[in-house]
Amino acid sequence: MKIVLLNPPSRVRLIRDYYCSKTSKSTYLFAPADLLMQSGLLSKTNELIVMDAVAEKLSPKQCLDRLHSFQPGLVLGLISAVEYNADLEFYRRLKDAPGSRKIFLSGEPVLENPEQWLSQNPFIDGILLRFVSRGMEQYVRGEKKPEGLAFRDGGEIKSFPISREPEYSVGRARQELFQDPAYFFSFAKHRRFATFLTDFGCPYQCRFCVMASLGYRRRNADEVEEELDYLSWLGIKELFLADQSFGAAPEHSRKMMSLFKKYRNSFTAFVRPDQGKDDFWKALKESGCHTAIVGLESGSEEILQAYSKGYLREEISEGIQNAKRAGLRVVATVIVGLPEDTEASIQSTMKFLRELDPDFVSYNLAVPRSLTDLRKTVIAEGLAVNLEMDQAGSFGSLKTRHLTESQLVSLKQKAVRDFYLRPGYLFSRLAKAQSAFELYALLREGLSVLSKNI
Ligand code: SF4
Repeated sequence: MKIVLLNPPSRVRLIRDYYCSKTSKSTYLFAPADLLMQSGLLSKTNELIVMDAVAEKLSPKQCLDRLHSFQPGLVLGLISAVEYNADLEFYRRLKDAPGSRKIFLSGEPVLENPEQWLSQNPFIDGILLRFVSRGMEQYVRGEKKPEGLAFRDGGEIKSFPISREPEYSVGRARQELFQDPAYFFSFAKHRRFATFLTDFGCPYQCRFCVMASLGYRRRNADEVEEELDYLSWLGIKELFLADQSFGAAPEHSRKMMSLFKKYRNSFTAFVRPDQGKDDFWKALKESGCHTAIVGLESGSEEILQAYSKGYLREEISEGIQNAKRAGLRVVATVIVGLPEDTEASIQSTMKFLRELDPDFVSYNLAVPRSLTDLRKTVIAEGLAVNLEMDQAGSFGSLKTRHLTESQLVSLKQKAVRDFYLRPGYLFSRLAKAQSAFELYALLREGLSVLSKNI
C-alpha cells in the first residue's frame, strides 16, 4: 500500500510532535518523533512517502494537490492542540477530496477519549494511540486486533489496548526520509542532525505533563545500535535526543551512553536536575552530550511540591552546578502560569534563574494538555480560556488564580528580555561559540527569540 506520513500545513512554524505541539520559539524545527518512529515498521511492506508541509511551507491547497498526485491508500497524519480547528478542517478537506484514502491521526488532542472523538469526527478513520505501537502496521496487514489502535470497522468503532511491555521495538527508523533541509536545531553543533529516541514516555509523575500518563518503555538496545550505525553510514553524528527524561532508567541509560560513545555522537538531551548520582553528569558529557536541557519549571517550592516534581530548589541548584562542572551547556526550562502563580512567584523564579546562571532558558506558558491532572484542575476551576494552546506563548490559553492570560504572556515576554538582554550576556555567548555554525545558530536563534518577545 502507498502510505503518506504527514505533518499537515500550518500558518506558522509549528512543531507537532510527541503529544506536545507548540510553535517554534525561534526558527528550530525537527523531524516529528511520531512519524519517524512509525517509518521503520510501515516501510517493511509498504511504499512510504514523508511529507512535512510545515518544513516545506506548503499551503493547504498545495499539500492537498501533492497528496492527490501521490494517491495514497492511507495517510497517517499529525494533529496539534495549537491549531486544532485548522488541522481538523484540513483533514475534512482531505477526506472530501477526489480519490479514496484512509486517514489515521496521532497527536495530543485525540488521546483523551479516542472512541468518543472518532464518533464525533466521522471523516477520520482511526487513531494511533501511541506512536511506538505496532498497530498501524498490523492494521495495514489486515490483523484483526492491532495493538494500540482505535478505528472504524464497518459501522463500529473498535479499540485495542496499548502494550505495557517494558521494552518496545519498531524497527530501524527511515532516518534518510527525515532529512529536510529546513530542519534546524538551535543547540546542535553541526548543521545535519537527527531526531533520535532510546525510550518512550516517562516514569515520573509531574502533574502538568502529558508524558507522565503515557507509561514508560525502553527501546530495544540492538535496534538503537542498528539505527546509530545507519546514521553513521549516512554521515550524521549529531542527535537531538527526544527522550523526555534521559537517565530515568539508569541501567538502560548507561547502555545508551556507551553506544553514543562508540558511535562518536554529539548530542543534546533532556535531563532532570536530580539525576546527578554516581557521576552521571560526567558520564553524560563523556558519551558525547554537549547540551543538557534541565527542567527547573518553578522557583517556588510550593509549586514544585504541588505538581509532584520530586525535587526542590536545592536539588535543582545542585544538578545545574554538577552539569556545568561536567562541562555541559545548560538550558533551563521554566513554566509560567500554573494556577498557583502570582506575579511575585514568577519574579522569584526569575531571580532564582539569574542565580543559577544557565547558558540558556526556555520559557514556556502552562498549558492544559490532554491526560494531565493540570487539565482537570483548570477546567474544574474555570481557568482555561482557550483549549487551543501553545506552550511557546504565542497566545495565552490559561489564567491563574491571580493573573489573566494576557498578563502571563507579558510577564513571560519580559522574562525572556530580562534574561537575554542582560549586559554582557550576548558577548559572553558569542565568545563561547566553537565554530562558524555555532556562531550562525546563536545569532539566528537569538534574533528570532527576541523578535517574538519584544
Ligand atoms: S520528568 Fe519531565 S518528562 Fe517526566 S513527567 Fe516530569 S516533566 Fe514530564
